[in-house]
Amino acid sequence: MKIIILGSGSAYGSPMIFNQWDKLNAGNPKNIRNRASLYMEIEGKKFVIDAGPEFRLELNQNNITDIDSVFITHGHYDHIASVPELSRACTSKAHAIEVWSSEETEKELKQSFGFMFNGAEKESAGIYWRRLPNLGKFISQGIEFQTFQVRHHKFHCSSFRYQDFAYITDWEEISQSGLEALQGLKLLIIECNNGLYPEKNGHSDLENVKRVINTIHPERVILTHLSCRVDYDDIQNSLPDNVELAYDGMTIEM
Ligand SMILES: [Zn+2]
Ligand SMILES: [Zn+2]
Repeated sequence: MKIIILGSGSAYGSPMIFNQWDKLNAGNPKNIRNRASLYMEIEGKKFVIDAGPEFRLELNQNNITDIDSVFITHGHYDHIASVPELSRACTSKAHAIEVWSSEETEKELKQSFGFMFNGAEKESAGIYWRRLPNLGKFISQGIEFQTFQVRHHKFHCSSFRYQDFAYITDWEEISQSGLEALQGLKLLIIECNNGLYPEKNGHSDLENVKRVINTIHPERVILTHLSCRVDYDDIQNSLPDNVELAYDGMTIEM
């Protein structure tokens, strides 16, 4: 299995619009972050989690020339802005792309991109809309995944597990069933939007992440969906030994 972090940034990316860096050192390329997204290659099948504003650039920057399935975590724009672009991807490859979302997220997609669902076939040509369960197993491209939801503001954000790897983006609370689904992980990639600065904003900080780590004991942890308050070098001394920060283009072979 190959994983590429396509984007490690929070909703506003970094630097933010008008070149705002906040607490980031502008001299470190690892502080330049696209909106959060992940690529997984499993048994030759190509999966992407979320399709935010930089989706096209993320694929092109990493020389990814095909995808089979996209899993959408929730309806915030930093995770769905490029969903309409998937139709273009289908036409250029002449094969369908599965787009998976929960019932809640599908409602958000329909509100945001009504033109894709109102019978205008061109806008959704080639997209095969699939429904994610809120909790449990699903099979995409012949590969079995597990999904469960985490709380994020008033939303529920779908999280994913494949074998001993799991990905959790936007969250502030993980339920007991979620924690049970996370037992025995070799790798956990998890949102740590606020870093060392706790804030009630629907996201997590390093202390929240440490509580999860101390409950489920994953072997390796990578923090992603990082805001402009999370400088790559600043936070390093506060991280436990098995925890590191994501950066765009980070590649992991498992
Ligand atoms: Zn987000
Ligand atoms: Zn969100």
